[in-house]
Amino acid sequence: MRRPIFAGNWKMNHTLKESKEYFEKFLRLLQGKDFFDREIVIAPPFTALYYVRNLIQDTEIKLAAQNAHFAEKGAFTGEISPLMLSEIGVKYVILGHSERRHIFGETDELIKKRVEGVYNHGLNPILCVGETLSEREEGKTFEVVEKQLKEGLSLLKDPDPERIVIAYEPVWAIGTGKTATPEQAQEVQSFIRNLLSETYGKEKAEKIRVLYGGSVTPENVKELMKEPDIDGVLVGGASLDPEKFFKICSINIKAEKAECILPDYSQIPQEILEIPRKYKKLVIVGASPKPERPSYIVMDYLIKEGFEVYPVNPAHKEILGRKVYPDLESLPEGLNPDVVIIFRRSEEVKPVVEKALRLNPKVIWMQEGIANEEAKALAEERGIKVVMNLCFKKIHQLGKWKR
Ligand code: PEP
Repeated sequence: MRRPIFAGNWKMNHTLKESKEYFEKFLRLLQGKDFFDREIVIAPPFTALYYVRNLIQDTEIKLAAQNAHFAEKGAFTGEISPLMLSEIGVKYVILGHSERRHIFGETDELIKKRVEGVYNHGLNPILCVGETLSEREEGKTFEVVEKQLKEGLSLLKDPDPERIVIAYEPVWAIGTGKTATPEQAQEVQSFIRNLLSETYGKEKAEKIRVLYGGSVTPENVKELMKEPDIDGVLVGGASLDPEKFFKICSINIKAEKAECILPDYSQIPQEILEIPRKYKKLVIVGASPKPERPSYIVMDYLIKEGFEVYPVNPAHKEILGRKVYPDLESLPEGLNPDVVIIFRRSEEVKPVVEKALRLNPKVIWMQEGIANEEAKALAEERGIKVVMNLCFKKIHQLGKWKR
């Protein structure tokens, strides 16, 4: 299991006096607790780094910087070098944070050099990637994340996977109080892991920690940490309060990361079998390669029952030995599926239904929670049956969860 990281980014907050008060409380809360199964990391502003280093030197807490230049020294007014950071015991450096990209105009070109400089000085980069709200709304999330990730890591040829950390931070969720749902975060985080796997191979990709960041709080951290590709969190606002950050850092990780044993399908209630029995070709939009996701279990079940299944998901190439199509437009010519099943996706359901209708299916199924009346009406106008009250949840619930 990847060792989760709970990182607090103080941004431009906390003077020395405030840092001292913070650690008086935070260290008191940590006293007597054993957190060797995780890393707790704090990124104070540059002026407090050395001071905080002294406050935490007898603890397991790791120090992070909020940025670093790529060069060791030179005429770079206002910058701090990786050599200077490593000299004072910094372990991690946050790079490419959206505030650096969007407020200070840092480009992928610059960020990749910073990543290389930091890595070559023995520091561990935390490379932040994430789309803005308009990019998400235009359906560009995967494109943006892919570019930032690939360019950001492009100068690291064969890195130690345990020394690089990625933080997926959707810009629209940072400091806004709007957290990505665990499903939205997982969808992108597993896409990131796939990209890492393409670049460095599966074995290494499995060792790289991918954090989520964006309005993480003590209230939402547990749900986020249940996702298999969320290996920790990067916390801004809530890390400024030692009590809140302690609550975030001290969650029971083992209880959140559960392993799913696939269900015994013979227990599936008869009424669930009824609809698919009539049909042959099924398209699954938003299919997931993770056994604990409802779409995976449903797909596994349908394949075992002998249906022709066509998974669609831009983030994956193969699931359960089946080729995955990036979108509904790229399915084989003249497929004429009987059913299009729509699972939760990052995009709105209505445009997906519009695309699905072009395939002329007999039935459209929508997962509970994403179906909406507007999308339903759209299909029914065309005489296509819509099933909204799905029983997939029941199939999912048959999975056994090992904790
Ligand atoms: C951040 O700055 O990296 C961040 C995630 O901030 P917040 O938790 O305040 O959204």
